[in-house]
Amino acid sequence: MRVFKIMETISRPFRAYPNLSKVLVVFAVSGGGYVAYAQANSDSNLISSAPDVERKKVVVLGTGWAGTSFLRNLKSSSYDVHVLSPRNYFAFTPLLPSVTCGTVEPRSIVEPIRNIVRKKKIGFQFTEAECLKIDAENKKVYCRSHLKDGENEFVVDYDYLVISVGADVNTFNTPGVKEHCHFLKEVEDAQKIRRTVLECFEKACLPTVSDEDKERILHFAIVGGGPTGVEFAAELHDYVNDDLVKLYPGVKDKVKITLLEAGNHILSMFDKRITEFAEEKFRREGINVKTGSMVVKVDKNEITTKEMKTGEESKIPYGMALWSTGIGTRPFVKDFMNQIGQANRRVLATDEWLRVEGCDKVYALGDCATINQRKVVEDIFAIFSKADKDKSGTLTVKEWKEVLNDICERYPQVELYLKSKQMSNIVDLLKDSKGADATESVELNIEDFKTALSKVDSQMKMLPATAQVAAQEGAYLANCFNRMEKCEKNPEGPLRFRGEGRHRFHPFRYKHLGQFAPLGGEQTAAQLPVLPGDGVSIGYSSQWLWYSVYASKQVSWRNRGMVISDWLRRFIFGRDSSQI
Ligand code: FAD
Ligand code: MG
Repeated sequence: MRVFKIMETISRPFRAYPNLSKVLVVFAVSGGGYVAYAQANSDSNLISSAPDVERKKVVVLGTGWAGTSFLRNLKSSSYDVHVLSPRNYFAFTPLLPSVTCGTVEPRSIVEPIRNIVRKKKIGFQFTEAECLKIDAENKKVYCRSHLKDGENEFVVDYDYLVISVGADVNTFNTPGVKEHCHFLKEVEDAQKIRRTVLECFEKACLPTVSDEDKERILHFAIVGGGPTGVEFAAELHDYVNDDLVKLYPGVKDKVKITLLEAGNHILSMFDKRITEFAEEKFRREGINVKTGSMVVKVDKNEITTKEMKTGEESKIPYGMALWSTGIGTRPFVKDFMNQIGQANRRVLATDEWLRVEGCDKVYALGDCATINQRKVVEDIFAIFSKADKDKSGTLTVKEWKEVLNDICERYPQVELYLKSKQMSNIVDLLKDSKGADATESVELNIEDFKTALSKVDSQMKMLPATAQVAAQEGAYLANCFNRMEKCEKNPEGPLRFRGEGRHRFHPFRYKHLGQFAPLGGEQTAAQLPVLPGDGVSIGYSSQWLWYSVYASKQVSWRNRGMVISDWLRRFIFGRDSSQI
């Protein structure tokens, strides 16, 4: 409550004087920047291996959030790292929507991967090429470079393979999407959108264009009400109202922005309060939010939608369309999944240590993979027999308590279940299944044990495809690689219920730090666990928090400086509208 009051007090002047937030950004950013600087300089404690040990070859596919985080956190000199990616830079994707309207320039949010790794004392090599095929049996990856004609395909061997190639766009096979819609996944996509927006405005100003056509050309349709679609709608609305209306006064009344969402609400992964606020704000500002409406076809100038409730189809003329409805698996990853017996899965599955299921020494992280969390019911007999130390066929509470920490670490859903039911220990869990008379002296047979744990798997959750997850997975895996030799000798993970001894490492645990949804007009919705109550904060005060966090999260001082100066430039001079 006190924290909330402090937040309220802090935010009051910002609501009264929105410009104050702009000044504070600089100070807030320098604080965040200091943290990032400390992080960047933590590379000095390099872990060196015994000099005569042969260095293992680690091949990393991709220079996105997961791959880059792995490289930044790798400290051991026991490896020769070979990075393969079709782009030689890291891109800070959360600022891509800002690039579409020129709020931030594209070069401000990218950093060459060679520069990120330059100061590290690990064996490092980069090749600009895409992976075409993985041969896990012979430990080889087949690659192709687009840099030269002729012989441009080659094979790379590995001892360890880290797959961090991200995801593809997902069109759900909707006809016409690939041909006519824009996507927003890469920096080039954002640049293309920026050019197209301006092209639409210039086109609408041609003397030969009819009024009806003007309206169509200046209709911007956004398909998908997730964070990317919403942020782009908000950016575009700001761009039009802050800058373009002054430059194109003759057509300003013809501009229309429509956000199409098949579900009942936009931003459905956020708290209900944020969803309602965003929908209300957009409606007030004239952004047309159309929910319950699925796009079934896209033609050159027309989008066909189908109402989810009535099945009624209608056609919407448009000038530019952005498709942002989610992600799919890259074709070569799909081939690899077929090869290793994961044909019926949607995404590449790994275990809790990020090892690809069905392969040896292959890891997958970020958007291209998902952790296939092990169910308690699958291992129930193994857990019971390991816990039953005296092999009596029954489990005392004491026996159970001895393995509870290992169970909770190996199967995090148990801890989540206890928390969700506000249970503090196993006796509470027993009371839940055996009734009120369960006490410390009760003994359980396998059937009782099964009943007690029967509901815990309901707490299993898939991790979202976000930069936050990808970066944490990259850092986790690098940490495992850093301590490979040490943990080989002294395993530090939980008990192996199905085998002997302990797992080498602790399993990966995701720590959710919160999420932002910029809504335009210097207002942002934030859902952060550190905030009191439901953790929701919406408005001007969250906007400067957003500036501060996103500036501090940049991977280099160059990026940080450029992003901040872009923001300042925009505050002072507005966005540039040259169609270059
Ligand atoms: P990516 O970052 O996509 O990197 C994949 C890498 O693999 C790239 O370098 C690519 O060039 C390379 N690659 C592709 N094909 C091959 C191949 N065949 N061989 C070798 N390399 C290959 N997340 C958040 O947490 N917060 C946000 O605010 C946020 N905003 C976003 C805004 C936008 C517009 C977008 C598109 C995404 C946003 N995300 C956000 C999601 C986040 O960007 C992704 O979850 C994250 O990029 C996943 O990281 P990754 O390393 O798995 O993949
Ligand atoms: Mg026993």
